[in-house]
Amino acid sequence: MFSFTNIKEYQLQLKNGTTSCTKAVEHYLTTINEYEHLNAYVHVFSEEALKQAQIIDDKILHNKPLGLLFGVVVSIKDVLCYKNHRVSAGSKMLENFTSIYNATAVQKLLDADAIIIGSNNCDEFAMGSSNENSFFGVVKNGLNENLVPGGSSGGSAVAVQMKTCMVSLGSDTGGSVRQPADFCGIIGLKPTYGRISRYGLIAYASSFDQIGIFANNVYDAALVLETIAGKDEFDSTVSPQQVPTYSQNIDTKKQYKFAYFKQSLEHKGLDNEMASKQLNYIEQLKSNGHTVDAIEFNLLNETIPTYYVLTTAEASSNLSRFDGVKYGFRADGAFNNLDELYKNSRTQGFGKEVQRRILLGTFVLSAGYFDAYYTKAQQVRNLLVQTTNNIFSNYDAILSPTVPSTAFEIGKKTSDPVEMYLADIYTVFANLTGINGISIPLFKHSNGMPFGLQIMCDAWQDEKLLSISNQLLQNN
Ligand code: GLN
Repeated sequence: MFSFTNIKEYQLQLKNGTTSCTKAVEHYLTTINEYEHLNAYVHVFSEEALKQAQIIDDKILHNKPLGLLFGVVVSIKDVLCYKNHRVSAGSKMLENFTSIYNATAVQKLLDADAIIIGSNNCDEFAMGSSNENSFFGVVKNGLNENLVPGGSSGGSAVAVQMKTCMVSLGSDTGGSVRQPADFCGIIGLKPTYGRISRYGLIAYASSFDQIGIFANNVYDAALVLETIAGKDEFDSTVSPQQVPTYSQNIDTKKQYKFAYFKQSLEHKGLDNEMASKQLNYIEQLKSNGHTVDAIEFNLLNETIPTYYVLTTAEASSNLSRFDGVKYGFRADGAFNNLDELYKNSRTQGFGKEVQRRILLGTFVLSAGYFDAYYTKAQQVRNLLVQTTNNIFSNYDAILSPTVPSTAFEIGKKTSDPVEMYLADIYTVFANLTGINGISIPLFKHSNGMPFGLQIMCDAWQDEKLLSISNQLLQNN
């Protein structure tokens, strides 16, 4: 019987012959089948994964050089391009689209001898907080199938939660890795903006999008990050900064200076029990020698509108390429003019939420409203960056809830988009400011569901973020 604890131990077992990549892949294919009803996968690459497993097993047998992630079984969100494989972004618009190149992150996984087992269901074009917006259907939370897994990377989260793979990649534009990780009881890491190349990641809002990692332990997340991060000539926003060997630097025991936002824990939308558990935890941290200060953050209620103005503006531009002509879905029929072709293809190809956001985005960018919405939101974004810089000149990290509630019922918020948007209140801050963030599964609610602690460190302090996470999880 195959069992997995972490990548380090698994790779040792591979080397000493007590297990093989083929056994691992066979095991995961069975588990994927067992949980098929959760709808976490859009495509499973069975044959190919088995073939790749055989190749790595042969390399091990013949003592050939091995990549950092040799044998690691990974799944990827359906927004990451994998050459010659379908990639749909959870949309009818790209239902039958096959990628002609690899995303840089995917290429780096393959170069590191990882095995990609399948692509994960997600909200359409990564827009959503519950995975109810996918053309391929709702994803269910493996801990309670009446509940959402969170979104937009819900399939990737459930894939790791139900142990159908070792780690998975998602994308986080406003919380789409941290929020589902919180709902599913696993680790979800959003690195600093520009740490991982976005080349081959289907764009939602380019100045916010960042590839993120789901894992069951910090070491695995760190190892994947060091593999896929780093400069890339195909993405000018990715940093050329040297990538540290994150996985080797997470075993620190330090006393940290933490801050938390008073307004976050006092927010009326936050579940009472979650607030009190976070406050108790803060006391525990203090008694363990850390400093934890409550600080003022008067912009909390501005973060959601700022995020939704700017991301919808960027989305309306990014998604204009899906017009029924260049690629993707085209409506049937004979049209009188090009506009009719565009209109019908986009109306039929995009789901409701995507259409809503394109409309919002074009509205906030339109002449006469541009300054009132878009420019204003940019100003708030600048203010948030300044505020963040000030905080990090005094503190190592900001602590916060990841989401204001535990996983909610499927269907509960679909009729009220604004209510759904409020689920992002604690996560969009990191994307607006470009800093990193992680959700670690520290708590359990009396309703039986897990919830996380969100930790955020200054930009480029991803190593510190991982060390703190590791320390807090180990002390728990
Ligand atoms: N829930 C947020 C939204 O719907 C975040 C999405 C994301 O991070 N991709 O925009």
